[in-house]
Amino acid sequence: MDAPERYEQLLAFLDTNLSTPVDRQEAADGSVRFVGGEPADVVVSLTETSVIVSEFAGVWETPFTFAAKPRRVGILKWRRLPETALFNALAVLIKGARESRLSRFRVCQYCGQRTAPEWMHDDGVCQACANQHSGAIH
Ligand SMILES: [Zn+2]
Repeated sequence: MDAPERYEQLLAFLDTNLSTPVDRQEAADGSVRFVGGEPADVVVSLTETSVIVSEFAGVWETPFTFAAKPRRVGILKWRRLPETALFNALAVLIKGARESRLSRFRVCQYCGQRTAPEWMHDDGVCQACANQHSGAIH
């Protein structure tokens, strides 16, 4: 199988193996960036030679500006691997990144929602509830 065909296979694999909804964007450098899930859990960048899998993460730079800073968990040189090994490895990396991300979610003690860490006010209360109960929660 030649590289353009394998590249298409990778695009299709990422479209179907990330959490929905999948956001797919072409970056300025020609790579394709996939962000899966709402809230996001896994970020994958596909370039001409590599596929890079990251756990979604980020920080609030100001109270209104969230900067995504994905944590890289693995990079595969996709042209160097045979098909089965490539897709198996990619699936494992995606699964690992997703598990790691979800393990950081916390359940809000007020609304009971599992909430991404960037939307938690503190360990036990989500941002929305903290705003609503701002009188009650210091
Ligand atoms: Zn809540």
